[in-house]
Amino acid sequence: MDISIVIPTYNESENLPILIDRIVKVLEQSGIEGQIIVVDDDSPDKTWEIANDLNKTYGNIEVVRRQGKRGLSSAVLDGFTESGSPILGVMDADLSHPPEKIPELVEPILNREADITIGSRYINSGEIEQWPLMRKLSSKLATLAACKLTSVKDPMSGFFFLRREVIENIELNPKGFKIGLEILVRGKYGNVIEVPIKFRDRIYGETKLSQKVIIDYLIHVTRLYIYKIF
Ligand code: UDP
Ligand code: MG
Repeated sequence: MDISIVIPTYNESENLPILIDRIVKVLEQSGIEGQIIVVDDDSPDKTWEIANDLNKTYGNIEVVRRQGKRGLSSAVLDGFTESGSPILGVMDADLSHPPEKIPELVEPILNREADITIGSRYINSGEIEQWPLMRKLSSKLATLAACKLTSVKDPMSGFFFLRREVIENIELNPKGFKIGLEILVRGKYGNVIEVPIKFRDRIYGETKLSQKVIIDYLIHVTRLYIYKIF
């Protein structure tokens, strides 16, 4: 396998079949050999069961059903642990990230032009569609809060790929939602390439962003600044 794409899910039973179908098509068309790892935190809507059914249809999906454990970043790290591929990727399950951009994100890593690639909303031609003004504003503020941690324009993106070596032998703290930012601060890497994406708000299901997630983010960013300074 060239790549593993980790998809963390919680109550995404309506989105997952559409997403997987699109990913499988993109992989076929591009010739990239990819495996999908769905990490589901025992969703009440049984997303894990849907994922198992999808594997019967497509055959390249590994399903990790986590019982008694929750959290977006830790789900992603558990997905990485399951993978044996040299290139690791992450994307949301809610169709916010266009799978059609996967080849553009993977090729620079395959060609050794980059160690990390990011689907970016905040560079030229990047865009956010249908998010309410408040959501756009809070995303901008959160990005601003991290601006001295990395020069990447969209370090909060949940759509990214990396060479496995970037995080090998590195201790990552899986607090909160922003595992990409954690990797950018603590990982070992050279070049990062941002690829513009059109991010769309979800149509099905609900966001899991809550007040707790925002507080966790503030704690996370503070820890990263302390790490960076010392
Ligand atoms: N997610 C997850 N575990 C959580 C929270 C979220 O697996 O505890 C998944 C969710 O199903 C989605 C992705 O992480 O695939 C991003 O979450 P969401 O869309 O709710 O966040 P938003 O895009 O609104 O920030
Ligand atoms: Mg979302």
